[in-house]
Amino acid sequence: MRRTGYIWHELYAWHDTGTHAGVIPAGGPVQPYLNFESPESKTRMASLVEVSGLIDDLVKIPARPATEEDVLRIHTPDYVARIKSDSEKHGGDGGDGWTPFGKGSFEIALLAAGGTIAATEAVLNGTVDNAYALVRPPGHHAVRDSGKGYCIFSNVSVAIEYARAVHNIERIAIVDYDVHHGNGAQDIYYSDPNVLTISIHQEFLFPADSGTLAERGDGAAHGTCINVPLPAGCGNGAYTDAIQRVAGPAIRAFQPQLIMVSSGFDASAADPLGRMAVTASGYRDMATELVSIAEEVCEGRVVFSHEGGYSPVYVPFCGLAVLEALSGSQTGVQDAFSDLFEGSPAHSLKPWQDDVISAAEELAQQLQLKV
Ligand code: ZN
Repeated sequence: MRRTGYIWHELYAWHDTGTHAGVIPAGGPVQPYLNFESPESKTRMASLVEVSGLIDDLVKIPARPATEEDVLRIHTPDYVARIKSDSEKHGGDGGDGWTPFGKGSFEIALLAAGGTIAATEAVLNGTVDNAYALVRPPGHHAVRDSGKGYCIFSNVSVAIEYARAVHNIERIAIVDYDVHHGNGAQDIYYSDPNVLTISIHQEFLFPADSGTLAERGDGAAHGTCINVPLPAGCGNGAYTDAIQRVAGPAIRAFQPQLIMVSSGFDASAADPLGRMAVTASGYRDMATELVSIAEEVCEGRVVFSHEGGYSPVYVPFCGLAVLEALSGSQTGVQDAFSDLFEGSPAHSLKPWQDDVISAAEELAQQLQLKV
């Protein structure tokens, strides 16, 4: 058993994304409903962590708000000031029209970034071996001067800069398995040779214009950005291969002191926004592999920060599987959906999926030569 830190705060559920029909604003012929990015999938994951008894095997770490100084290491003063001021009045949008937030979301976004900082700090202090920050709003689409795709602050990047400023950590690898491209971290670290960003995502999904194999980093950082833009329809085979064949070799070559994982469950078979077929067992296998890579290269130091995942009914099982993999604890709770999803023909690796993974594998090999 490992000591796994776990972060959740009720306030994460109070971030208000308004009445939408999924992603479309309500009004006219569009009947008001929840936004896909609602509290449901996160609160239900937190509920299953408790009801399964797993909570007793985890080390609960209190969430704390990031300071403005913390977020200003990443975000521009104008952007932070605007979010703060809109949040004090009646809410607003992160900047792209797809990032609605309500009154008080500034403080909740600080708590999400701060939750990821607290998880990272506990791992770096050795209080725990690894950690999962179940935070909301998510962060991986946010760029320095704007929110994007439901994300207000770049939680993972803010935690990385905290680790660099306070803990003397230099080299960090980010693995992002959210179904959408991890454009935010890629953009923030595109010219930084000490941060390796690896994003495994559905090609041309969101943002539709980024996340290609050709995006590899600038200048001295060339080679430290690796994208695995998978075609729609991938299951557990393609995803575990992408981790084993691309993320593993790239991280071993790069030798980071810390691994951050942008943990999105929207590549799941039940997600309304992704077109992939990953199951709880697929997520378990990816997390197991990432824990093992971390143990091999950086004394097990890996921090998962929650990103997307919009199936209220399935995210809890995917999340529980990841937390079991991190802690080595077995609750005995079975994936209630396994009969429905595990037998899918989507899970075997297809040649057209293998082509993309092979191309990315080559990029990981080139990184090995460079470092
Ligand atoms: Zn996503």
